[in-house]
Amino acid sequence: MFSLNEKCAVVGVYDVPEAAKYAYFSLFSMQHRGQEAAGICSSDGERLHLVKNRGLVTQVFDKAKLKKLTGDAAVGHTRYSTAGDDSILDAQPIFARYDLGQIAVVHNGNLTNSKEVRRELIREGAIFQTFMDTENLIHLIAKSQKEHLYDRIIDAVKRIEGAYSLLFLSRKKMFAIRDPHGFRPLSIAKLGDGYVVASETCAFDLIGATYLRDIKPGEMVVFEKGKEPRSIQVFEPTPHKCIFEFIYFARPDSYIFGKSVYKLRKNMGRELAREFPVDADMVVPVPDSGVAAALGYAEESGIPFELGIIRNHYVGRTFIEPTQEIRDLKVKMKLNPISELIKGKRLIVIDDSIVRGTTSKKIVQILKDAGAKEVHMRISSPPTTGPCYYGVDTPEEKELISARMSTPEIKEYIGADSLAYLSIEGLIRSVGNDQSYCKACFDGNYIVPNKNG
Ligand code: SF4
Repeated sequence: MFSLNEKCAVVGVYDVPEAAKYAYFSLFSMQHRGQEAAGICSSDGERLHLVKNRGLVTQVFDKAKLKKLTGDAAVGHTRYSTAGDDSILDAQPIFARYDLGQIAVVHNGNLTNSKEVRRELIREGAIFQTFMDTENLIHLIAKSQKEHLYDRIIDAVKRIEGAYSLLFLSRKKMFAIRDPHGFRPLSIAKLGDGYVVASETCAFDLIGATYLRDIKPGEMVVFEKGKEPRSIQVFEPTPHKCIFEFIYFARPDSYIFGKSVYKLRKNMGRELAREFPVDADMVVPVPDSGVAAALGYAEESGIPFELGIIRNHYVGRTFIEPTQEIRDLKVKMKLNPISELIKGKRLIVIDDSIVRGTTSKKIVQILKDAGAKEVHMRISSPPTTGPCYYGVDTPEEKELISARMSTPEIKEYIGADSLAYLSIEGLIRSVGNDQSYCKACFDGNYIVPNKNG
């Protein structure tokens, strides 16, 4: 619950007065997808205007900065830094001037052949300013000999592999495109006379936009003033959407890939109760990650749901790393059990995942210290046995506890009385028996090979 990070959120607002303001609020609602940096690039029809910096959305932008971002089109981004580093240069949008004018791009995902493409571009004379795989796209577009930008974008995406939900902004147009597998989400909504495109639908709710549909895997949508958005199916769709979005990353109030995240998380809890029942006094979620699944588990099992652990939402991020001692305090600073409630009780504790195992071990410890008689851990996803190459920041395989230990060994390590994970079949049933999902971090089936080494 503390060790996986979605790398980014993207938003595009088109043909809406004060577009940057709406991009700002949309990014604010998707802050959970990346907290390292934020940026918005707007177009007033003649010029692009860019503001980006390290920090949270509310730290990067103030009234004066938003005022600079004039125009009725904008693209924005929040970043969790991995492919690249955390310097300001690696914040997005990436802005560039080239022979057709000015362009900005924002990207959610991870390109699996970025190193070979970059080597090739450098051999041909390209000079890079950042370590981001996304910068490759700017060079590929600049190099293309096609007359129109949309043809150049198509040329560029035909050269890249991996996961991408991309938005491009030129002076007059906006382009949204999703990779043929549709690893990462991207949805369209209507706002006034214009449109909004965003990683998660919770962005639409905040700004009063009406969800229309998802951009299809392999589809590009072109937004142009005075015209209906134009759809071009660039690639044959071969859906392989990230199932982890439902388990972990997305906000529960979002619809991802057209489905309610909250509802599916409850389904996972119900499945878990059917697969791994246990006689106990109460179902306790690890907040906030286990709440919806715990509600499902409690409903299915008939065992009462109790908020036995309270989360402190105001723990800062800045000072917590220096020593092992402080690191050990990190979980305690965040989570505190209600001793009176759990003393002498047999608990079923629900979380969405175990990554390194260190957090679960500390949770079991603080519950036992608070007097719990038994702690039965139930995890609403299968064991995470492999890293993600498609836009999620996962630890290396050797750091993933399920890649090194069996479930009984992990149970011993975390000190629980029992431990069980939702099966892959149970997970598939929870999302509606739909097979069009990537589950590679659970089953090792990496449909797009990682060529970055
Ligand atoms: S490997 Fe896991 S986290 Fe990555 S896209 Fe596939 S399901 Fe999602």
